[in-house]
Amino acid sequence: MAGADYFGAHRRKSSEPRLWVLMYHRILPLDDPRFALEEPGMIVQPDTFDMHLKELQKHFDVVSLSEWVHANQNSDPVPKKACAITFDDGWLDNYEYALPVLKAHGLPATLFVVAEKMGTDFQFWPNIVAGLLHGGAGAELARHPVFREAISSQSREGNREAIAVTIQRLKVHTDDTIFQALADLNWRTLLDKPLAPALMNWQQVKEMQDTEQVEIGSHTCSHRRLNGDVAQDALHHEIVHSKALLEEQTGRPVDLFCFPNGDYTAPALDLVQRHYLAAVTTRSGINRGETLQSHELTRLGMHDDISNSRRRFNARLSGWI
Ligand SMILES: [Zn+2]
Repeated sequence: MAGADYFGAHRRKSSEPRLWVLMYHRILPLDDPRFALEEPGMIVQPDTFDMHLKELQKHFDVVSLSEWVHANQNSDPVPKKACAITFDDGWLDNYEYALPVLKAHGLPATLFVVAEKMGTDFQFWPNIVAGLLHGGAGAELARHPVFREAISSQSREGNREAIAVTIQRLKVHTDDTIFQALADLNWRTLLDKPLAPALMNWQQVKEMQDTEQVEIGSHTCSHRRLNGDVAQDALHHEIVHSKALLEEQTGRPVDLFCFPNGDYTAPALDLVQRHYLAAVTTRSGINRGETLQSHELTRLGMHDDISNSRRRFNARLSGWI
């Protein structure tokens, strides 16, 4: 939108407290082999991230999300324009590429990790599917009814945008269904080369936390999407047990939750409200201090294509696009 970069709310004085929450996933440079295997919407390059942090400091008080929510809930003063930085999933590349940039700028961030998967060889199913398509195993994948409809000829040829469409289409299935289908296909044997490790180990998580800049939040135990297909005992495990696991691993209170894929039902929200100070969604928007729903915080998703120049990044911060 014309002028969004210059006239957005982030550029103007605010009469009421507002909170911008930025959502990042992976931080990878273009020449990293992992870059080509990931959906474009998931990645910001390290130089872009560095530029983001410089810009943020011009417009905002960059805050720790838990501290801001805590102060706001207690009616303590909060900055008129605050911004919190969040990372979803706990990718190893956050440790490799985001941490040095955060340290250089001395800014806080929240890392939402998948409690039962850190330090394991877990792979997210979209990366398995992308790895198979890039590796030329599209025909084998299409033999399974779960994948057949979702795969296009372009995605079989390894086109990144087409693979992203395939992944979106697959979301009509539950995570359990997709993982079962991949297991049926014995997916590891179909890869042309093994996938790079996805997640950090606990030592790396702790190293991030020990900077006193990074706080850890829960992104469930297994990254299961909390939609209508999840039974109550599984919901309890994903939401309540993940908190206990993370508190044991980190030795700190875990007050923040992040819904995988932004999906949740009323019972999921209820459990999160009872066990956490606040939670973030994938809904887009800027939060207003007085009216915000602490357990349904909106965020602004960041990826390189829409934020790799100061103008584009500022337009994104306007919340208009
Ligand atoms: Zn996630």
